[in-house]
Amino acid sequence: MNATYKPYLSIIVPVYNEEENVRPLFEKIRTVCESIGKSYEVLFVDDGSQDKTFDVLSEMRGYSPNLSVIRFQENAGQTSAMAAGFEYAQGEFIISMDGDLQNDPADIPQLLEKLDEDYDLVCGWRKERQDKFWTRRLPSVVANWIISKVTGVAIHDNGCSLKAYRADVIKQVPLYGEMHRFIPAMSTVVGARIAEIVVKHHPRQFGTSKYGLGRIWRVFLDILAFKLILSVFAQKPNHSRHLSTEQSLRYQMIPKYNVYRIAAYLSLPFFILGFILINVDIISAISCILLGIFLIGISLMTAWSLSIAQSDAVELSPFSSFFIYQCARRPIRSFGPIGMFVTIVGVVLIVGLPHIGPILVNSGILIFCFGLFGETIAYANAKRVVDYRVEIFLDAKTDGKRLENVI
Ligand code: UDP
Ligand code: MG
Repeated sequence: MNATYKPYLSIIVPVYNEEENVRPLFEKIRTVCESIGKSYEVLFVDDGSQDKTFDVLSEMRGYSPNLSVIRFQENAGQTSAMAAGFEYAQGEFIISMDGDLQNDPADIPQLLEKLDEDYDLVCGWRKERQDKFWTRRLPSVVANWIISKVTGVAIHDNGCSLKAYRADVIKQVPLYGEMHRFIPAMSTVVGARIAEIVVKHHPRQFGTSKYGLGRIWRVFLDILAFKLILSVFAQKPNHSRHLSTEQSLRYQMIPKYNVYRIAAYLSLPFFILGFILINVDIISAISCILLGIFLIGISLMTAWSLSIAQSDAVELSPFSSFFIYQCARRPIRSFGPIGMFVTIVGVVLIVGLPHIGPILVNSGILIFCFGLFGETIAYANAKRVVDYRVEIFLDAKTDGKRLENVI
């Protein structure tokens, strides 16, 4: 890699099974970039496609000097693909967009013009979105309304991938899990100035969408976890611009209250009450003990997380790395659905087996909350987790030489 090469613009495109789309998309991007007349690079991030996407990209690379291709070992999700794009991009400004031709590269010049009015992030708004109403547009309108209320960042279309960024700002924003939908809100954590412009949107012509209704659930959990971070763990920074990464991470992890101490102290009366009640009312006794265990769990998770975030070590201890890596890979998230399931079973059983029903309801709620805390802590440590593995990096500057296992 030539470290001194710094193009004006980097376009990053995450792709997963988009074999028919990548070639026409690249041609469109190239036409637009040539018309802008500044130096540019296009970075396709192949998120472990199983179709011919990578073959097509490698072939295109043979005759396209501005094209770089990153290939992941396995599918890591759109957020990870974008995070890799931000990490590898060398341009002063960055554009991200979908690889399915639904975003239109013709919008790039307007996005850059807006950025030039001294913004750090310009979001595309798919005002005339060309997707199905019930499964796409309606959930999206509701989600965006909730996100704007919860985060205080009033953007119409958080889910639109077509965005423009100042590289030095977006490179500071921690991304994890499915957080590409929270880039505007996360950017405010590092003090970014945000604008929004209406962009074009086309129906998908080739290939299929990678998301089903399951995303509604995931976005819901993300919103809750994000709110927890801002309200309990983190002090929302004033909007001073360009904090260093270290500062912004530390800032996020200063708890307003000593969450872990309060949780540990609170658990004690619940344990005592639980044991007193064992012979009086077994359901209340078990509920109290469960609550005590839950509070101790939260206390430990918070304390570990803080000790990691406040230490300068980028290397995690084996125990924490297991815990946090597992969070990033999302099994913690499955506590959410498990908690919901147990709660529903409990509610159903309250009629038939009144002794077990309430215990299940309580356990379910606690499992759910535990999962949510796990999510929150994973968020808070996001920057310390590498959530993807690069298999091949075809860098535009190395004349086709493959840099294998660069991470
Ligand atoms: N994508 C990805 N990894 C995934 C899922 C999607 O890189 O695990 C890419 C996908 O190839 C596309 C973009 O993310 O370029 C948006 O996905 P999609 O079009 O399926 O989402 P929708 O437009 O339906 O919201
Ligand atoms: Mg799409």
